[in-house]
Amino acid sequence: MNDARRGQELLDQATVGIHGANGRRSEGDPVAPPIVQSATFFGGGPGDDGELLYTRHGNNPNQLQVGAKVAALEGMEAGLPVASGMAAISLTVLSLARTGDHVVSSRFLYGATRTLFEQELPRRGIQVSLVDPDKPRDWRNALRPETRLLYLELPANPTLRVPDPRPLASLALEEGLPLVMDSTFASPVNFRAGENGVDVVIHSATKYLGGHSDLVAGVVCGSSDMIREIRGLLKLYGPALDPHAAWLLDRGLRTLPLRMEGHNRNGLELATWFRDQSEVEQVIYPGLPDHPDHEVAATVLKGFGGMLGVVLKGGAAAAEAFVGGLRVASLAPSLGGVETLVSLPRLTSHRGISAAQRADQGIPDGFIRISVGLEGVQDLKDDFRLALDRAASG
Ligand SMILES: *Cc1c(COP(=O)(O)O)cnc(C)c1O
Repeated sequence: MNDARRGQELLDQATVGIHGANGRRSEGDPVAPPIVQSATFFGGGPGDDGELLYTRHGNNPNQLQVGAKVAALEGMEAGLPVASGMAAISLTVLSLARTGDHVVSSRFLYGATRTLFEQELPRRGIQVSLVDPDKPRDWRNALRPETRLLYLELPANPTLRVPDPRPLASLALEEGLPLVMDSTFASPVNFRAGENGVDVVIHSATKYLGGHSDLVAGVVCGSSDMIREIRGLLKLYGPALDPHAAWLLDRGLRTLPLRMEGHNRNGLELATWFRDQSEVEQVIYPGLPDHPDHEVAATVLKGFGGMLGVVLKGGAAAAEAFVGGLRVASLAPSLGGVETLVSLPRLTSHRGISAAQRADQGIPDGFIRISVGLEGVQDLKDDFRLALDRAASG
C-alpha cells in the first residue's frame, strides 16, 4: 500500500492538503518545498539502471509531490499533473482508446471536451456516442464490443446538472470498463472519486485546485497502472507541467478544503438570494430544492459548490447590461478562483451553436454563469443588486 492510500485512510483532507500524502520531514528541511526549476537531473551513467529523471517525463520532484497529493485527496492510488485540463482529458482518452475503438460519454460536456469528442477523436478513428447521462439504459444501449470507456462530467458546465454516478459505476464494473470522470466543478472536497466507483478522475487544476486564477494545469488520478500508461503518453506527446506551476498548484491545495467550504457557503447563500430578486426568472444551483438533480446532488456531493446559473427575465440585453454594471465581481472566462467571475456562455463557451440549440441544452439567452468567489457575501449581494438596478434602468 503506498503513502497516498495511507494518507487517505488516516488523515483528514485538510491535513493532506497541507502536508501531502505522507508528511515525512527531517530536521533542517524547508517548511515550504523548494521549486526544483530544473529540466534535467544528474545521472544516466553505465551503472545507473534507475528511471531517467527529466521534467517532460512527469518525474520532477514538484510534479511527483503534487500528483501524489491530489491522489491522496481523491482517495486514489496515483496522480499525474500535466500542462492543462485538456491535456489530462486527451491523454487519458488516448491511453484507453485506439483507432477503431469507441467511447460512450455524457452529452453534458465542457465545450473543448465536446469538440474533442465530436470532431477530433472521430478524425483519428475513435467514435464517441453522446448519451443523456441520467438515463442508465441509454448508456447500456450505446455500448459496443469495441467500447473502451465511459465518460462523465460532474457537475456539468454550465447547466450544473448532476447525473447520478452510481448506476454508471455499476455498469462500468459489470462491463469491465473504466468510468472516467471530469470532476473539475466538484473538486475532491465535494466529490470523492475513490469512494464512488470512479476509476479515473480528471481535474482542470486551473480552477478550484489551483484556486487563484494564476496557473493552467490538469491532474489525472487513478490506479498506478493507469497512471503509468498515461505517463507513457506524456513522454511522447509532451504536455508536462512546468515545475513552478506544479509548485503553485501545491500551494493552492494547502487551502483547498478551506476554500471549498467558503465557495459552498457563498454559493448557497447567493443562489437563495438571487431567487428572491424580481428580475430573475430562474436560478440554477444543485443546492436548491427545485434543481432537477437536487436529490442526487444532496446524496453524492459533500457540498454544492460555488458555480451558479442565473437566468434574467430580460434575456440577452438584460444579461449584458447586468455584467456591465458589476464592480466587485467581474466579467471573465474561467472559474474556481478566490475572486467572483461572471460569464455569458452565449458569448463564450457556447458561442458556436444557435440560440435554439443553446435553449435545448438549458442555456437560454438571459443565462449568466457565476463562479462565486470568497469575497464578503454581503458585498457580493450589494454588487449584484446594483448591477440588476443598472440593467433595469437601461
Ligand atoms: C476548464 C475546464 C476544462 C479544461 O481545463 P483547462 O485547464 O483550461 O485545459 C475541462 N473541463 C472542465 C469542466 C473545465 O471547467
